[in-house]
Amino acid sequence: MAPESRKGGGTRSRALSERVELDALRTVLSSTGAYIFTKDRDCRYTYVNRLVAELFGRPASEVVGCADEDFFDLEASDGLRRNDLEVMAGGVTVTSEERNVVKETGETRIYLSVKTPLRDADGEVIGLCGISTDITKEKELEAALTEQRALLDTVLDNVDASIYVKSRDGRYRYVNALCARMFGRAPDEIVGLRDDELHDPETATRIMEMDARTFEGQAKQAGEELLVLPDGSTGYFWSIKMPLGHVGRPDELIGFSSDVTELHELRQDLERLAFIDALTGVATRGYLTLQATHELDQARRHGWPTSLIVLDIDNFKTINDTYRHAGGDAVLVAVAQHCAGLVRDADVIGRIGGEEFAVLLVNTGLDGAMHLAERLRREIAGLVITLPSSDVPVSCTVSLGVASVDGSRDGARHLMTIEELLDRADTALYAAKAAGRNRVHSA
Ligand code: GH3
Ligand code: MG
Ligand code: MG
Repeated sequence: MAPESRKGGGTRSRALSERVELDALRTVLSSTGAYIFTKDRDCRYTYVNRLVAELFGRPASEVVGCADEDFFDLEASDGLRRNDLEVMAGGVTVTSEERNVVKETGETRIYLSVKTPLRDADGEVIGLCGISTDITKEKELEAALTEQRALLDTVLDNVDASIYVKSRDGRYRYVNALCARMFGRAPDEIVGLRDDELHDPETATRIMEMDARTFEGQAKQAGEELLVLPDGSTGYFWSIKMPLGHVGRPDELIGFSSDVTELHELRQDLERLAFIDALTGVATRGYLTLQATHELDQARRHGWPTSLIVLDIDNFKTINDTYRHAGGDAVLVAVAQHCAGLVRDADVIGRIGGEEFAVLLVNTGLDGAMHLAERLRREIAGLVITLPSSDVPVSCTVSLGVASVDGSRDGARHLMTIEELLDRADTALYAAKAAGRNRVHSA
């Protein structure tokens, strides 16, 4: 083979291999998921791949020679033309997000575009090469996520409860605004800290015990928590804590704590009102009955005796008539307080009627009860009561009825109810009244 023809054959085969390479390149450019194009200095397309042609709804050959204003609403589009000019004029590569409005459909698409200058052999910029990726979906998701996050933050920060997430090692991972305010710090100052770094040791132990139950039990826990707050005040919180993360071994818990301090105080007030007689300060009939039922149960179980003294002020109507209602009240208070001072801590004294009191004597037989009743009678008769409204000293007497139940004898077979015991003591009281007052009778 002649050298020339060999040379000519080499040129041909090089041209052939270049064509193959070019075809391969075109195939790659057409099958990629990116929009690839080149433009001349006048911003007219000199090449577009399949995706660009499809977007513009024309064959690639028809797109070549056209400019962006043929396909996009440049007035409404943001960045497209500006970026092109910056690449051409500055000879720099520009990477940016472009918001383009497609003329045909009015649809807005967002692209991440990388535009690089194309240069001739002398280095002059003759156009640009662009690669754009459609990130509209991602942007929409991102916007939806941002919106949801903002909504969640609004809810979390405006709900009237402390909301927090803690990891298994007890460190706060998240606190909402109210929770942070409770600690008197910013949320990010609390994240990473443990309760023993935020509370006094006792409060921290109480909190961590409930947390441990949540992790160990792997179930929702609910209960009241008593917290000493940084300002030294005490707060009661109704807390619900739930394990989060892996079933079987949760990594975190989420907690919701509502301030129930006011409710707690209200409940205590109500309990006080229900259990303590407002005028005399001794137990109410309701509380005495409750305690007596419990005591009679214990008495039967242990074979103890239980006694009940019923005490009624003699001729109280006359006291009321003489010293008016307020004077009567003062006598009631004096009698009640004196009796309360004479009974043991385990016993219960209650006001069971207007000027009628009962004393429940735990583990006390009839003899002991009669002894105390007699002492009560004697001491009250000797009581000198000074009324707030007058200097005249007032005195009164009481009549008392005593009833006992022997737990060892009656217990196993039959438990006398408090109503029955009261009824028997009342009968004895009636007998004491009938016998002339200021005396003790037993049933
Ligand atoms: P007796 O010796 O038979 O017990 O006569 P009494 O006058 O004490 O008994 P009675 O049951 O006839 O009267 C009780 C009075 O107690 C009538 C009622 O107005 C009065 N009373 C009831 N509750 C109160 C109270 O809270 N304060 C005052 N000051 N009086 C009350
Ligand atoms: Mg009376
Ligand atoms: Mg009475």
